[in-house]
Amino acid sequence: MIDVVSFLPGKRKQTTSGWISFNAPCCVHRGDSQDKRQRGGLKPTPDGSWSFHCFNCGYTASFVLGRNLTFKARKLLEWLNVPQEEIERMNLESLKHRSIEGLLGERQEIVNKLQDIIFEDRDLPADTQPVNKQAEEYLHSRHIPLDYPFLYKTMPRPGIVIPFTHDNQVVGHTTRFLDDRNPRYVQDIQHGYVFGTDLQGKDWQTVIVVEGVFDALSINGLAVLHAEINDAQVRLIRSLGRQVTVVPDQDEAGIKLIDRAVELGWAVSIPEWPEGVKDVNDAVICLGRLGALLTIMQARETSKIKIELRKKQLVKRLRT
Ligand SMILES: [Zn+2]
Repeated sequence: MIDVVSFLPGKRKQTTSGWISFNAPCCVHRGDSQDKRQRGGLKPTPDGSWSFHCFNCGYTASFVLGRNLTFKARKLLEWLNVPQEEIERMNLESLKHRSIEGLLGERQEIVNKLQDIIFEDRDLPADTQPVNKQAEEYLHSRHIPLDYPFLYKTMPRPGIVIPFTHDNQVVGHTTRFLDDRNPRYVQDIQHGYVFGTDLQGKDWQTVIVVEGVFDALSINGLAVLHAEINDAQVRLIRSLGRQVTVVPDQDEAGIKLIDRAVELGWAVSIPEWPEGVKDVNDAVICLGRLGALLTIMQARETSKIKIELRKKQLVKRLRT
């Protein structure tokens, strides 16, 4: 059994949601002052996996049973004064639990490496907090399920931090500011990243590709995060081996996305949504999640001619 909790500082407390908080050991190693407000949070799962997030300096690390300890997880253990031999023992112990799933995961990792689908671990912004009432209300108003690990920050402006994960590691983030000033978003995004691969069910045959992060969160889709799909993103989406349907925003930029989808041979859905609804998240707010998904499936077109026809109708709707 891999027991990380026994190596945590004695002074700690456990929250009802399963997070253990203690003085974070990372900050002093990263040019920040020593945490004295128990801003380090570690969430263990019953099988021995865990994830760590520092609300002070933003350091993240996680460990999945059956896999090698990552560089950032090793660093964290060192900073917690776990002896080197103990760290190696944990790693060996973990690899003993390498299940068929773990092996499949490793094969996928090799395939990804060959196709250059690799992202480096990134930290989240410093000084984040758990989501507060205002943030919760905002997410609620956009019909976004609260089970995603959102965070909140106040500086320089109040905003919701949405971690970008790939294979359950943090590889970037976006912040949606809650005042209505511009820019509304700031992003830390790596080339070729597609949001939402971790939202996909294991056995799903299809995947819906949308533009924005809230569109993806509201229907468990993939977000390309702008109105284009670059080649690296295409490789990543193809590597999932699923039937792809692109749902563009119903605006001028979305039209470019339709042309790109046709070029890639992917299906496109341009539903005739009620007045004022211009993207998937609007549709979910207006019709509910199931209603929105039904309109998407009903309007799904695979033939190039039919997609062109739907596009013309959309252009007409946009310009009248
Ligand atoms: Zn820290």
